[in-house]
Amino acid sequence: DRLRLDGKVAYVTGGGQGIGRAFAHALGEAGAKVAIVDLVLAKAEVVAEELSLKGIKSMAMGADVSKPEDVQRILDAIVARWGTVHIACNNAGINMNSASEDTSLEEWDKTFNVNLRGLFLCCQAAGRIMLKQGYGKIINTASMASLIVPHPQKQLAYNASKAGVVKLTQTLGTEWIDRGVRVNCISPGIVDTPLIHSEELKPLVQRWLTDIPAGKLAQVTDLQAAVVYLASEASDYMTGHNLAIEGGQSLW
Ligand code: NAD
Repeated sequence: DRLRLDGKVAYVTGGGQGIGRAFAHALGEAGAKVAIVDLVLAKAEVVAEELSLKGIKSMAMGADVSKPEDVQRILDAIVARWGTVHIACNNAGINMNSASEDTSLEEWDKTFNVNLRGLFLCCQAAGRIMLKQGYGKIINTASMASLIVPHPQKQLAYNASKAGVVKLTQTLGTEWIDRGVRVNCISPGIVDTPLIHSEELKPLVQRWLTDIPAGKLAQVTDLQAAVVYLASEASDYMTGHNLAIEGGQSLW
């Protein structure tokens, strides 16, 4: 079965909740060992424990993906424990929200540090290991905001950072595929996770619902098969792709 991931080593950043947690479960159920990486170690530990209870080999690590020393530390730890890494799920991301004319440099930098700098650091560190072994699957989490400008506005830094995720994915995906490393991204629409239940985003979500042809938010379960597919040999001819799973929202 080309969709199985038995014997593969994976990590998921932002794996402590939401989409990352769902990705971790899906990869583990498909047979991979999974390292759960999160800014909040306690959250990663809970998810690693959930996986262990299912009989999935897992480990938890606290790390800030925007810090090069943290990223190197998690990859060193994974290699020390499981020998290598085959599947890198670079999913950690943050969303802040202010009118563009009021967006502070601090908000801009924070958003880009996690969403794009963090992704670069993780892709590079994991990519070096994968290039050496001639095989690897990198799956980045972008957003539907990479394809359209979801309205109402007020997501300048987020939208720009997610567009950057797509271009980074395309560039690495074409640069590395002839050495066995595929790089793709998933662009979820609006997913029912803790991120969108923040006080800031609640009013926006009500508005967004009217923009979704599917008429409802995505659940994390709507994304799980996609990450397994992109992590598996079944998608080996696919690289630099941005897979939108958004209930048709980017088409309206
Ligand atoms: P979430 O806020 O529910 O979970 C994100 C996790 O990432 C948290 O556990 C958090 O602690 C962790 N994290 C934050 N900063 C980190 C850092 N610097 N280093 C390591 N971990 C960090 O978010 P989510 O909804 O699950 O989103 C996951 C990804 O999906 C993000 O990249 C987000 O932009 C993207 N996304 C989400 C939606 C949505 O509607 N929820 C839609 C499109 C894209």
